[in-house]
Amino acid sequence: MTLTIPYEAQLHAGTIAFLSSQPKQLLIGGRWTASVSGKTFTTYEPSTGQPLAEVCEAQAEDVDVAVIAARAAFDQWRKVTPYQRERLLQKLADLIEQHAQEFAEIETLDNGKPLSAGLAIDVPSTVEMFRYYAGWPTKIEGDVKSVSIPNRLNYTLREPLGVVGAIIPWNFPLSMISWKLAPALAAGNCVILKPAEQTPLSAVLFCELTCQAGFPDGVITLLNGRGEITGAALAAHSGVDKIAFTGSTEVGRLIMKAAAGNLKRVSLELGGKSPHIIFDDADVETAASYAAGSIFGNAGQSCNAGSRLFVQRKVYDRVVESVTNHAKKIRVGVGMDAATDMGPLTSLEHYQRVTHYIELGRDGGATVRTGAQRPDGVPESGYFVTPTIFENTSDDMAVVREEIFGPVLIATPFDTVEEVAQRANNTLYGLAAGVWTRDISRAHKLAGLLQSGTVWVNCYSQFDPASPFGGYKQSGFGRDMGHEALDLYMNIKSVWVGL
Ligand code: NAP
Ligand code: MG
Repeated sequence: MTLTIPYEAQLHAGTIAFLSSQPKQLLIGGRWTASVSGKTFTTYEPSTGQPLAEVCEAQAEDVDVAVIAARAAFDQWRKVTPYQRERLLQKLADLIEQHAQEFAEIETLDNGKPLSAGLAIDVPSTVEMFRYYAGWPTKIEGDVKSVSIPNRLNYTLREPLGVVGAIIPWNFPLSMISWKLAPALAAGNCVILKPAEQTPLSAVLFCELTCQAGFPDGVITLLNGRGEITGAALAAHSGVDKIAFTGSTEVGRLIMKAAAGNLKRVSLELGGKSPHIIFDDADVETAASYAAGSIFGNAGQSCNAGSRLFVQRKVYDRVVESVTNHAKKIRVGVGMDAATDMGPLTSLEHYQRVTHYIELGRDGGATVRTGAQRPDGVPESGYFVTPTIFENTSDDMAVVREEIFGPVLIATPFDTVEEVAQRANNTLYGLAAGVWTRDISRAHKLAGLLQSGTVWVNCYSQFDPASPFGGYKQSGFGRDMGHEALDLYMNIKSVWVGL
């Protein structure tokens, strides 16, 4: 199939060259290859819905070959010194930085997000993540234990697990690679990466750079393919020691079941329905702008989106008015257009899902404060929705309980700390929460009461490679980032020596 390159006149020469060679292959044992079956799948450009690229599709037999190659590579990789691992990770970070423009353009074409967002957020945060973890290999240490048995020395070693499967979503394709691969590689593991089928492309460029950086063959494997085939085979494979997953709660459950066969380690970063709570003593204008940013940024396709806005009654009208004004000013359009603040949703399936929720909200009697329609002046066939705010909902409605993963905010008033804590926690999820107040004791009290892995006080959506991020309840377990993530990619060995 010959594909035309969309927005070609605007693209970096490197991006054009990248898109011109297709189908995009798998990387197994350091060699770029087609799948055994020869199967491919198509990835689409969400602002038009047109085909963007053909990608080789790994099947279970490709997973088998890849696992054998990765296991063989692990025997060599574990002999690479910590200092050499650091140097490789640093080199990779430099290469990603040098290809920032191509990465941002590929993310825009494959995922839909504005080019400016890719350049400001996705790419630099990925570079930072690799640089942060590049600092770790020479600092991974065991310790000597103060045991009370005479004439015995006891110490611990922290060793890599072996082969890690990383299964990631489509909302931040490149960043999600860094969240899983940077700590896994720093800890000395080999990694098999299964990107989302909606956004397979930035992983291909990334893996080209891992080869250029000089990672030994088989340390990093790329298996593009479908979740229920490639992902499921990886999750069930007895030669895989761990699955690191980000995605839906539903698939997280499937992965836990599949992992039971060889009791592989699992860490899951799943969905959320995060409460964003604004008290009447807060800096309400700043709070309102963060409230808008937290749900409309990345078109609401963020696991930590502040999708339930709780505002104390006295300032409710003012805050919702302000958030509404922010929403109305957001320019929805094609990601390659410099004027665009919010791009399309990433796939047709997801567009149908989000618009279905908008219908559910409206039909269920919620008031549409703004949005809930197709924006003007965008390509007819693209997956665009407008920033949407619902009011007058009840806490049992589907739009209030379920993760929409789109630019849809539920705004609701509250009166007391106890009430808002109870309602904020009244969800299966527990990923993140925001609290805005100038009352320091109230802020700390709520930080303790809220059942979520992250609480942001007088800010929101702050991420740093040093700070752990992950879920309570059905938002999953295990942590990304920080030394906490590193720990999840290592075993602890206790060594006893008779003296
Ligand atoms: P998903 O199905 O959970 O996809 C995440 C990853 O898991 C993808 O790589 C997917 O591959 C793979 N996968 C799917 N089924 C699998 C299986 N049986 N075994 C192993 N891997 C499997 O997410 P989605 O369907 O793209 O999105 C659905 C909803 O999930 C969203 O609307 C949102 O609510 C939530 N979500 C959350 C996050 C987050 O950051 N926590 C990210 C994305 C989505 P394929 O792409 O090939 O299916
Ligand atoms: Mg795509």
